[in-house]
Amino acid sequence: MISFTEFFDCKGIHVWNILSDRAIDHIFTSTKEIPIAEHVQKEVTGIAVLLPYRLISGTESSTHTKIVTVGSFAAYNYYHFLTRILQELAAKIRAEYGLHRSDIRISVNSKLPEKESAVLANLGWIGKSGLLVNPLYGSAVLIGLMLFPKIDALFQTLVNETDSKNYINNSQCGSCSACIDACPTHALDNGFSKHLCLQYWMSTGGMPEHFKLHRGNHLYGCDVCIKECPYTQQFQDNERLEHQKGQLGDSGQWEGEQGKHREHRGHSSKVFTYLESQLKESEKRPGSYLPLELLAGMSILELKNYFKGTALGFRWIPLNDFKEYMRFLCESERMTT
Ligand code: SF4
Ligand code: SF4
Repeated sequence: MISFTEFFDCKGIHVWNILSDRAIDHIFTSTKEIPIAEHVQKEVTGIAVLLPYRLISGTESSTHTKIVTVGSFAAYNYYHFLTRILQELAAKIRAEYGLHRSDIRISVNSKLPEKESAVLANLGWIGKSGLLVNPLYGSAVLIGLMLFPKIDALFQTLVNETDSKNYINNSQCGSCSACIDACPTHALDNGFSKHLCLQYWMSTGGMPEHFKLHRGNHLYGCDVCIKECPYTQQFQDNERLEHQKGQLGDSGQWEGEQGKHREHRGHSSKVFTYLESQLKESEKRPGSYLPLELLAGMSILELKNYFKGTALGFRWIPLNDFKEYMRFLCESERMTT
């Protein structure tokens, strides 16, 4: 008999929850996408899952004098990894309950409202950064959703395994403004303004000239607001934990499953080491630090091949923008030497 808890524990995933009826309703009403095959739509349940990832800081040694960087969320293909884990779970559910492939929908970085669904599943709140903030992990998380038919026995298992979960979704940002203060382009000064956000322009191309100064050597991915969040830091950085506790006061309390979560607090390296040990080699690409001159000399086709299978999907990221920006960085380098 399937146990969600055992399955996720075995994968090193500790924060997940059932999707409330409100979350399911929200998924169905807020998207033009068809969330799950029509024949299952009447009775649907599901889960939301958080996958934390390691934030990379500092520089790796490199024989190349100039590097470009990739944000921590895209340095490894965690999206593929999380999808793979959920596919494995889906296969177990299908086998046990005689379901078809189309009976189960997995969503990782799709058009379904993943962030809002995670909030409605009590896995955190939308912070002043506009991102999901989970009290244990902060914002350095990917969200996965899985929808499946509300079969009595399966639903009962899910309810039994989650009814003691006491997560929260009311904002615990308090008076903190770390993300707002740290954003290099003031994109969070009056709520989130996408046209002021570097990440938005890196994903769409056409970044206004005056933002390039702030883009620096980031080829793809700005994670400043993620890194600056004290909830992120308290999980990621053991050294800062005690210091941050003093600053956060009561707002830093994780109210649910305290024993389990305290166990993981300050031991993020164990969580990450375990999660990363399950990544395939192909999922550990392209890495955080990439050789500028080598990439700048590549044709569009060579770049496509270089980034193939990584989290930098060129169905939405404009490759020409990458090429143009790397040319710009090389020229700036030549002018300063
Ligand atoms: S991703 Fe970067 S630019 Fe966008 S809001 Fe966060 S810190 Fe600001
Ligand atoms: S940095 Fe502070 S204000 Fe911003 S999301 Fe995190 S806790 Fe909230």
